[in-house]
Amino acid sequence: METISSCPKLEKCPIYLKNVFFNPNAGETYRKIYCTAGKEKYTSCKRFLVSEKVGKPVPESVMLNCSLTVDEIIAKYNL
Ligand code: SF4
Repeated sequence: METISSCPKLEKCPIYLKNVFFNPNAGETYRKIYCTAGKEKYTSCKRFLVSEKVGKPVPESVMLNCSLTVDEIIAKYNL
């Protein structure tokens, strides 16, 4: 059976370290949908994509399913 991989950034991802979610269940839900759901899913996370592109931490206010494009996020937050 193939192992489902988790995001390599999971342990240090600021949204989990700082627990930025208003609803206590939201973090767990996001984690299941993106972070621990295999490479195809975690590589669709906007936080992951922006971080890979700029090579530095992404502000906690950027959500995994942010509607902006990667370049729009980079421009908005001056990354
Ligand atoms: S929020 Fe995105 S970058 Fe952070 S651990 Fe989850 S998939 Fe990775």
